[in-house]
Order: sequence, then structure tokens, then C-alpha cells
Amino acid sequence: MKLVFATHNLHKLKEIEALLPEGIELLSLSDIECYEDIAETANTIEGNALIKAKYIKERYQYNVFADDTGLEVLALNNAPGVFSARYAGAEKSDKANIELLLKNMEGKEERKARFKTVIALCLDSKIHTFEGIVEGTISTCPVGQNGFGYDPIFIPEGYKETFAELSAEEKNRISHRGKAFEKLLYAALAVDERLFIIQYKIDQIWHGAKRVDDDVLAELDFFTDLDLLFLAK
Ligand code: IMP
Repeated sequence: MKLVFATHNLHKLKEIEALLPEGIELLSLSDIECYEDIAETANTIEGNALIKAKYIKERYQYNVFADDTGLEVLALNNAPGVFSARYAGAEKSDKANIELLLKNMEGKEERKARFKTVIALCLDSKIHTFEGIVEGTISTCPVGQNGFGYDPIFIPEGYKETFAELSAEEKNRISHRGKAFEKLLYAALAVDERLFIIQYKIDQIWHGAKRVDDDVLAELDFFTDLDLLFLAK
């Protein structure tokens, strides 16, 4: 199955590529020759993820998913949240964003924060969303060279290191994006299995097979005639 990841961010592409199972071919926006900057005009993370995924589905017709992420800092009333990319201005500089955040956190003892990602998936005519959250704290200064964005100042719960000090594998295992993408994979696998079983039933009917395994028959009870009609089209 070909699936577009609607991002221009090469770090995000690498993270998701490392989580892909066999059978899914990941396409980047440059693979489909989409070079435009998709405006993120919604006032929620979910809204922005949906804008990006729908934009690609409507204009390029590929099955696609898009993510949007926000860093929510408790002592800053959950800012920068949906404005995380532009916190320090329209140029979306990671360095400037970190500097401003640390300045706004000066003298604050409460340092709890969390990353929240929503992935929107447009698969054929259906749209699904998946959320992933990782809790943690904001460090007092940037540490580490790995990752991107706010990684150098985010210490995930249960760790002493920032995300930027962890390996890519370790960050992926516990991160907001890793968790949201894991949910997407479970859903995609469930759909695949469901279609496989429906196809099996159709084959049995059309080819007049006499014997169908009992466990397959039991599974088939879940599917309606509508499912069968949809697939047979
Ligand atoms: P967006 O999801 O690309 O719009 O990202 C919003 C902001 O969050 C940007 O400043 C990103 O650099 C930052 N960001 C997104 N994902 C991560 C991450 O995994 N770690 C650190 N910062 C991130």
C-alpha cells in the first residue's frame, strides 16, 4: 500500500520510516511533487492535521496521513500549544522558539509539560484521527544534539535526559508521534484483516467451495451485506 506522509520535515519522515512495517511504501511530499507550504490555519492541533491530510487527498488523490504537534507547558497555560512552530515568530526558528520558551519559564518551579500529536489519516473515502501524548518537564537549558524542534529542552517522564540526548529508537518508542503512529498501524492492520476475510468469503461464494473453516465462518458474522457489496463493487 502506498501512503503519503504530508510533511516537509525530514526529521519526522525519518522517525516514521523507522516504524513502518513491511507492505507500506511511504511517499514524501517531494515524491508526489508537492512543493507548496500548506497553510495551517486551524486553532487546534487536530484541525491542522486534518487540513494537511485533506489538502493532499483532494489535490493528489493519494491515501495520506499528516501530523500536527504542540508542546503544552503547564506554567504557561498550555502555551505554545497549537502555536508551537511560530512561538517566536513567522520564521519558525527552533533556536528562537527554545530561547523564548526558556525566557518565559525563568524563575518558574512548575516545569511540567507535554507533547501532543494528532495524526489525521485519509484512507480512501474515510478520515480517521489518532492522538499520542508524552508527559515530561522543561529543562533549564538546552541539552543534546539529536532530534529537532523543542527536543533539547524536553525531558520525558521517567528519564533524566532530554529527547535530544536519546537515540532515535528510544525517542520513537516513547514519543507522542510514535504513540499516535502505533495507533494508526493497529487500525490499518485491522482494516487489512477485515478486507482479507471479506475477500475470502467472496471467493468461497463465487468459486462454489464446499468447505469453509469454522473459525473463518465465525469471523464472517461480524460483516454485513453492505461490507460485501462495498468490496464486490
Ligand atoms: P508541526 O507539527 O510540524 O507543526 O510542529 C509544531 C512545532 O513543534 C514545531 O516547532 C516543531 O519543531 C515542534 N515539534 C514537532 N514535533 C516535535 C518533536 O517530536 N520534538 C520536538 N519538537 C517538535
